[in-house]
Amino acid sequence: MSIKENIQTLKKELDAKNVKLVAISKTKPNEDILVAYEAGQRAFGENMVQEMVEKEEALPKDIEWHLVGHLQSNKVKYIAPFVSLIHSVDSVKLLKEIDKQALKNKRVIDCLLQVYITDEDSKFGLDHAELIELLRDEEFRMLKNIRIRGLMGIATNTDSEKVVKEEFYELKMLFDGVKVTYFRQEDSFDILSMGMSSDFELAIEQGSNLVRLGSSIFGKRVTKHFKLKD
Ligand SMILES: *Cc1c(COP(=O)(O)O)cnc(C)c1O
Repeated sequence: MSIKENIQTLKKELDAKNVKLVAISKTKPNEDILVAYEAGQRAFGENMVQEMVEKEEALPKDIEWHLVGHLQSNKVKYIAPFVSLIHSVDSVKLLKEIDKQALKNKRVIDCLLQVYITDEDSKFGLDHAELIELLRDEEFRMLKNIRIRGLMGIATNTDSEKVVKEEFYELKMLFDGVKVTYFRQEDSFDILSMGMSSDFELAIEQGSNLVRLGSSIFGKRVTKHFKLKD
């Protein structure tokens, strides 16, 4: 199927379930993004700052840019003027920098806290204890130019449906618990970002309301390395 058909089919299915589609366009050329754009897609996700900045400059201004990859504090300034949602926040230090850069740009930046839900060895994301510690942090609670919209998680890369389902279930439980405990007054804590091409059906079944799909829209990726400038 073509990019256009993929977008149309997925949008139809996801709209019916009230699930937001973020098209993960990392490593893909602007021409591919424009095809998806012409088919009505507006939310795109990247995992590298430099690549996202270059694409933002070249592409239509009504695109919503989502950062889904690990973010270093010293790179926040490049995306602060335009980023729509940062999915991968994993420390108070990073939140303080996002807040500072958001203030400079006279805006409030929406963020998700990335939670570590796999058994795999991964450097990124907060475990449960770290998540609670962050939510209780006095400095975090003072920040005015960031808004926590919800949680994000990446399931284990495995063929075992059982494992993936349990991980998504656990993240949904955590999301509900955090919402009633820390965001009871805030309707804006409403995004649960879970599910990629291989597991999004399971994620939706378990309560996801935002899926991040790359290869099921654009086809397989060939790895490409972007040089990052400071
Ligand atoms: C690459 C990536 C995706 C999309 O992966 P696909 O398997 O191509 O759908 C989703 N989320 C994150 C965080 C990614 O890095």
